[in-house]
Formats: sequence, structure tokens, C-alpha cells
Amino acid sequence: MGPHFGKLRELAGRVFDLASAAGLLGWDMQTYMPPGGADGRAHALATLASLAHELFVRDDFGEALEAAEEEVKDLDPDSDEAGIVARLRQDFDKSRRVPSEWVAESVRTAGLAFNAWVKARPASDFPAFQPHIEKVLELKRAYISFFEPYDSPYDPLLDDFEPGLKLATVRGIFSELREVQVPLVQAISERSEAVDDSFLRVPYDESAQWDFGLEVIRDIGYDFERGRQDKAPHPFSTALNRGDVRITNRVNPNRFGPALFGSMHEAGHAIYSQGIAPALDRIPSLSGSTLEGSHDASLAMHESQSRMLENLVGRSRAFWSAYYPRLQSVFPEQLGDIKLDAFYRAINKVERSLIRVEADEATYNLHIMLRFEIETELIGGNLSVADLPQAWNSKTEEYLGLTPPDDRRGVLQDVHWSVGYIGYFPTYALGNIIAAQLWQKLSTDLPDIEAQISRGNFTELIGWLHKNVHRHGGKYKPMDLLKRITGQELSAAPYLEYLTDKYSEIYGLS
Ligand code: ZN
Repeated sequence: MGPHFGKLRELAGRVFDLASAAGLLGWDMQTYMPPGGADGRAHALATLASLAHELFVRDDFGEALEAAEEEVKDLDPDSDEAGIVARLRQDFDKSRRVPSEWVAESVRTAGLAFNAWVKARPASDFPAFQPHIEKVLELKRAYISFFEPYDSPYDPLLDDFEPGLKLATVRGIFSELREVQVPLVQAISERSEAVDDSFLRVPYDESAQWDFGLEVIRDIGYDFERGRQDKAPHPFSTALNRGDVRITNRVNPNRFGPALFGSMHEAGHAIYSQGIAPALDRIPSLSGSTLEGSHDASLAMHESQSRMLENLVGRSRAFWSAYYPRLQSVFPEQLGDIKLDAFYRAINKVERSLIRVEADEATYNLHIMLRFEIETELIGGNLSVADLPQAWNSKTEEYLGLTPPDDRRGVLQDVHWSVGYIGYFPTYALGNIIAAQLWQKLSTDLPDIEAQISRGNFTELIGWLHKNVHRHGGKYKPMDLLKRITGQELSAAPYLEYLTDKYSEIYGLS
């Protein structure tokens, strides 16, 4: 490692440390902070974010970056050093366009809007939330103007979460999804009596559910020496550094499924962050409006890891041939008489519902598409905030055939817009798509993978993911990483094939 690279790494490390501290405050805000701490916490987070931004965009950072670029220019572009410098350049150039005052204002606004949302949602009180979302949007419009010229005003927002991806690409992929998923869900709904999941909707002891989830994710490879699981109203994972990657979860005592799949989902995220190569740790990921401690490829790549564990592994026959006998021994009253096949079908039951986070694999992307369309209309200026609830309800009717009875189960259900995450939703659907692409390649490289999973053996699975995805952290742009691994561009085909095959079998569709 040359002296200039070393200097750059030290400066980047200081930015990372502030992001990491902010990450811990954010984790605490959603787990243990008393409600009275909300306003003070919004200020503390705003100060940390603007300090991190100021440190990052300073002239001396730019000079260190230039000197390091000179030093690594003859290195293999795939080396960790060259990758770190290239990624920092990209984030630096972006962040230099954004004033630190905007960053502080944006984080403070998000903190206050988040608190307003926490109160407005249970009360179904959209008018109380409306001025906050208007302020968030006003700041987003200012943000977009820092990046002129662009193909679409949505592009600079999307780029914060999915570097290099454009609105036009997402639109194309989503129309492919729509063409297959809408009729698939329709066909399934006509055969809804084919699957019975009533035995999952009875009391299941809360702590036994929690412990079973811990057992499963420990077996899969989540390292509890470098992680922990706490209770929170919404499951999430947060990476403070590769040695401290936390997850949260919640348990519904009257239903089996959401808690376990929540743990597996968040463990998928966490195993990614724990698997980043030590040489790539303590590098900030600071693109324009977001400040993240963890240095990963993108949100969609991250979501591909969580969805893979939750769905491709966790909702598969292979996985349950290993774990079902164990689960039956934990819950003999509820599951003792239920056969493995009936259980497998029940955990894959498809139901059009109002709430995204409770949606099954087949309907999930429909929830994303309606949010994506609303976001692009908001940003494009074709929809006003006052008309949001109405727009939400009519899209829900269009995609899911349901009308939310109130805004709590409609436009107020998700936290994202309150905290300024506009351009974020598409990454969930892209995560599903990327998971299937990676799985296709993984199954070619490891032809025995299903048999291994059915013996409860995850070593080669996680080893493959570590080597191909995790270790590279944020070294490559997400679509470049995908292409390096699979040889393919982003494509919905493997995902749609997986979905169609799986549900045609479960629901007996021809
Ligand atoms: Zn996730």
C-alpha cells in the first residue's frame, strides 16, 4: 500500500467513523430510545451527517484522492486498492455538488418527518403528515437541480441507491414483470382454495418462535460474535462495521412465518456486511443524499442477498426437508399432524393484501410497482401531495383489486418517504430479480446445492456468496458486479421463470 493511498484511506476512515456513529444512533432510535428523545436525536443525526459530508468534500480530500489515483493507476483495476479509489472518486464527485447545508437540512427534516409519520400512521391522519412530505419533496427537488443535466429528474434520486441505474431501465424491467406477474396472480386467485394455511394462523409461543429463528440463522452462517438480534417494530439490519452487524425483528404470537422469514431476510443482509473483505472495511459509502457506514455494491444487491435467504432458501422444499422435523418438535400441537408438503404450500400461500411487508413472493412486486409509479409522478410534477391518498388507493385497486379502508393501511404504511427515501422502492423488486440471476449461476457452479440445503448444510452456499458477492463490498458498480458474476445484464427472465414454475406447481396451474 503506497503512502498516498494510505493517506486517502485514513481520511475516508474518519468519514466512515462518523457514519458508523450515526448508524448506532439510528439503530438505537428504532430499538431502545424513549419517545422523548426523538427531537434531540434528529438534531444529533443532522450534525453528524453534515460533519461527515464536510469532511468528505474538503479540498484536502480531493487532493488525497488525486494523489492516490496517480499511485494506483498501474495496478490491476480489479485490485481492492484500485476499486476503493474508483468508488471514492465517484462518490466524491457526486457529493461535491451538494452543499453541506442541504445535507443538514435534509437530515433534520427527515428526523422530524419520521416522528410525524410515527404519530400519523396509527391515527390514519394524512393531513398531519402532509406538510412534512411536502418539505421532503421540496428538498428533493433542490437536490435534483444539483445534478443537471439528467435524462429524467428521477435519475439522480435512483442513483443514490443504485449507482448507475436509470429510470428507463427500471421502467423496461417493470413492464416485463407486469406482463407476467399480473396474470399469474389473477390465475392463482381463482384457485385460492388450493392452499390452506389456517394452521399457521393460531397461537405460536413468542419466545419459541424467536429462538427457532436464532437457531436457523446461526446454522446458515450469521456470526453472533459480530452481530446480535434485538426487538424493533420493523425488522431491519444495520452494519456499523464488518465486526458489528446488527439485525432486529418482531414476533406475531398468533401467526407462524413472519418472524422466522424476517430473521432469515435480515440475516441475508447481515451476512453480506459481515462478509466484506477486511481490506474493504471502514470505507464510507456517501453518495449525494445518503450516508451509510457499510460499503456495499447497492441496495438491490443487498436485497438480493436477503431475498435469496428468505425465499429461494427459506421458502423451498429443500430447506424444510432439513428443518421441518425440528420445527414440528418445537410446535407439536400446531404442526404434529401436518405433513411437510402441506406446510410447504402453506408458507407459500399467495394472497392479495394491502400491506407490502406482509406480501408473499408472487404479489410483492405489485406493491413496488404502484409505489414506483406514484413516486415518478410526484417527482415529475404530475401529482400533488394532497392527492397522494387518492392516487394510492386507485393504484392499489388497479394492481391488487383492493381498496384500503384507511390511510394507515394505504399511503401511510411505509416509512420510506418520511425519511427522504424516494427512488428506493424499485431496489426491492430488483433485489428479487438479481437473487434469481445469482441463483441460476450458483446452481450451475454448485450442482449439488439443493441436496446440501436439504441436509441443513449451508457452507458452500455462503462460501460462494462470500467469494462472488460479499467480499467485494462496494468495489464495483452493482450492474458491473452482476455481469462479472453471471455474464449477464440485469434480466427479469430467470426470476419470472422461477416464479411461474414454483406457483404453477403449488396451485396446479396449467
Ligand atoms: Zn431487505
